[in-house]
Amino acid sequence: MNIALIAHDKKKDDLIRFALAYKPIIEKHSLFATGTTGKRISEEVGLSIHRFRSGPLGGDQEIGAYIANNKMDLILFFRDPLTAQPHEPDVTALIRLCDVYSVPLATNMGTAEVLVKGLARGDIEWRSIVRGKEE
Ligand code: PGA
Repeated sequence: MNIALIAHDKKKDDLIRFALAYKPIIEKHSLFATGTTGKRISEEVGLSIHRFRSGPLGGDQEIGAYIANNKMDLILFFRDPLTAQPHEPDVTALIRLCDVYSVPLATNMGTAEVLVKGLARGDIEWRSIVRGKEE
């Protein structure tokens, strides 16, 4: 599965802790992230991860392009709703695309936990069928 990880600045520590806790599960998959999130995950968690641009510089849109091309299977996006984001339209667009394509998306740690546990049980295997149809 292709998994995208993104965290707004005030949620990055949470995502690092989450990635550490679930490293044995997520390391079995292809990981992608926005620039700063990806740098921290790679350095602090030791996961190999493809880094897009930083969110405000287009990274959210790069992940959106993957979703639009049916190439992303799970999105873990730790959002901070209490701080204004300079790239809020991109954030909204990314979430919208997940709804367009029915791609599983968590916007907070509570949901992320459920999704990653489901991932470990193979509950998201239907994505490979959906992806297969497109390719
Ligand atoms: P960042 O981008 O990982 O480069 O900080 C995340 C975002 O703000 O969407």
